[in-house]
Amino acid sequence: PSTSHNPDVIVVGGGIGGLSTAFALSRVGLRVRVLERAKEFGEVGAGIQIAPNCTRILDEYGLLDEAKSLGVLPENMVMRDALDARELTRLDLRDLERHYGFPYMVIHRSDLHGIFLRACRAAGVELLTDRTVVAYEHGDGGARILLQDGGAEEAPLVIAADGLHSVARRQLVGDDVVSSDYVAYRAAVPIDQVRDNGIAEKDVTVYVGPRCHFVQYALRGGDMFNQVAVFESPKALAGKEDWGTPDELDAAFAATCDTVRKGIPLMWRDRWWQMLDRDPIETWVHGRIALLGDAAHPPLQYMAQGAIMAIEDGWVLARHAARHTTDDGVDWDAALAAYEAVRVEHCRRVQTTARAWGELWHLDGEQRLRRNTVMRELDPYGYAFTDWVYGPTALSPDEEPAMFTPIPLASARIGEPDAAAAL
Ligand code: FAD
Repeated sequence: PSTSHNPDVIVVGGGIGGLSTAFALSRVGLRVRVLERAKEFGEVGAGIQIAPNCTRILDEYGLLDEAKSLGVLPENMVMRDALDARELTRLDLRDLERHYGFPYMVIHRSDLHGIFLRACRAAGVELLTDRTVVAYEHGDGGARILLQDGGAEEAPLVIAADGLHSVARRQLVGDDVVSSDYVAYRAAVPIDQVRDNGIAEKDVTVYVGPRCHFVQYALRGGDMFNQVAVFESPKALAGKEDWGTPDELDAAFAATCDTVRKGIPLMWRDRWWQMLDRDPIETWVHGRIALLGDAAHPPLQYMAQGAIMAIEDGWVLARHAARHTTDDGVDWDAALAAYEAVRVEHCRRVQTTARAWGELWHLDGEQRLRRNTVMRELDPYGYAFTDWVYGPTALSPDEEPAMFTPIPLASARIGEPDAAAAL
């Protein structure tokens, strides 16, 4: 029995991972307190892709209809060559929905974050802003966090959902982020501004090119158009501190096809995202402190599964908390062991596959042409390739489907620096 002064769980970080986890835990009857560093809850950035493994969870939470009303259900996911614009492969997203039972959706990040924020409020989650956690300590049958303002709080479980630059990760693991030397520019603009650019309004289109790629899809009921431009920064390769700056953007896309080049001037130039990830780690649970979301497994975004993995983490943890609840409360050690047993390996696969995808997308010269030939021969309805990602989230390692990637040569060497060279 807890009072509002003694939550069952403290969640550090109110991003998509922290809020969705707080909501999941409150649904199984736990008292949850979220501590967020920012003055207000919110998300920066533009669109986010939500695959069936996540819309399935939103549906279980009773949030899918709201998400659908704010997002867009695209018809196809189409991959094209960024230089000659030729189609390489596609997924028919209507058929994908029939196959998995849940849709592939795109939504504004702030809309998805807002859905979880409202759900947390309605569920009675304690939501506290302006709380910066500076250190973690193990406590008696729990864990403690120390706040910048000198305060301390304790709970049977502390979840660190504090993102890529996690304080908990630094303290408990101590590894560094890994730079890919790639940078992302984003923009979401009224769709009228791009109608003459040769866009496919109803599709998610990914143009893959030498050392760059470009993603496009409509948002907010089709009124807005989201674009992401990603490229390798020459300044990063030269070891400069200040890399990925706007002057590098135009040069990176100068040789691309019309539709891509027309999109570049619309990119936001006052903010960009250096593409960093971390090497996978095997231990996310330290006593009663658990890493979750980007704090545990920040990926390069090429599989569009980063936020989804965070949402899955919370769903899995809540399921195991419920399974390990007795009259004495939750057996957190058992629940956390079960969480770690299944999530570490799944997320490792996504992280390493995302790196390999990046190499494959960004090939040049002869390798690019060979990749294009392989991709054009793929069966667009071959779901064996997507089941391990888009299928139902596994609760235990034996539920996890076998892993395939559509490019056998790359999959054999996934995670190795020369994965793409195998082509
Ligand atoms: P964050 O969103 O980073 O949230 C961490 C929160 O913790 C923040 O609110 C922060 O203020 C707070 N915090 C940090 N430190 C402290 C502290 N010391 N004390 C208190 N609070 C703290 N994912 C997808 O699923 N689909 C996509 O299509 C997709 N596209 C992407 C495109 C790009 C260009 C990028 C960069 C990423 C993309 N991702 C995508 C990945 C996704 O954005 C992240 O994986 C996801 O947002 C991680 O959520 P999180 O809650 O773990 O971390």
